[in-house]
Amino acid sequence: MKMLLFFFLSIFLMGAVMMACGGKSGNQQSKAPEESHSATHGETPQEVIRVTIFNEYIHERENEFVRKIYPQGIHGAIASYMKNEPGFIVRTATLDEPEHGLTEEVLNSTDVLMWWGHAAHDKVKDEIVDRIQKRVLDGMGLVVMHSGHYSKIFKRLMGTSCGLCWREAAERERLWVVNPYHPITQGIGPYIEIPNDEMYGERFDIPEPEELLFISWFEGGEVFRSGATWHRGKGKIFYFSPGHETYPIFHNMEVLKVLANGVRWAKFHGNDQTTGIGGCYQVKEPLEKLSEKDYKTGVLEHPEEFMQK
Ligand code: ZN
Repeated sequence: MKMLLFFFLSIFLMGAVMMACGGKSGNQQSKAPEESHSATHGETPQEVIRVTIFNEYIHERENEFVRKIYPQGIHGAIASYMKNEPGFIVRTATLDEPEHGLTEEVLNSTDVLMWWGHAAHDKVKDEIVDRIQKRVLDGMGLVVMHSGHYSKIFKRLMGTSCGLCWREAAERERLWVVNPYHPITQGIGPYIEIPNDEMYGERFDIPEPEELLFISWFEGGEVFRSGATWHRGKGKIFYFSPGHETYPIFHNMEVLKVLANGVRWAKFHGNDQTTGIGGCYQVKEPLEKLSEKDYKTGVLEHPEEFMQK
């Protein structure tokens, strides 16, 4: 009897609560998750992010098999996804373009550079690598994909050989999220499964990652640190390993989502009022008035570049 009374009381209270909420219909309530989904798409959805996608663009032109997977090139596949991301302004650049499509003007108007290379790392001109490094140190984000681990720019910024073990046997790969607190791993499940991928295995000769986001398991038994981040100067770097050219990995929505998250994370959001890079400036005028000194300093000659202009 008590149970029955409790049941009717509960029904009555539920009704009262629904009235108090303005009698929202079930239909309206079901819209709420959609609204919150768009709100969580990025904390500042209006923010503009200028993305440049570099691809050496060799396999897709020389190999029929790869061309069928990526008729617009790997850069084209990635760009077509990124163009639909809110706020993204997307450009592409390839090796054969003058200055590899990475002129001063392009890099100076790039917030985040994405990099895919494999067969022609040595064809990338050192002066362009210098230019990219300078921009990264000055705050440009860099997202390095797959065999870009062996690119000049990644090795330069890491300072290690960046070598790894590999095997091409169309193996199943499971990329486990090991850092659920990170914006780059948002919006995907506990892992991403790729039916066929090239095996990348340890040891991966990189400096200790500042944040390890993914660890991959491969069908053949190897494991690999497949998603990791670093800072260099003011710049943020994200390495993400899936993306072998003979598998349709850049058509995988979860992989593309992680890359878009990586771009959003890598954009500089710090303090841009501090001095630039490579500076070692003489400060002639202290902020505060210094007290009288009873000590005479000797004056040393310094190279011209150390002196305040
Ligand atoms: Zn590969």
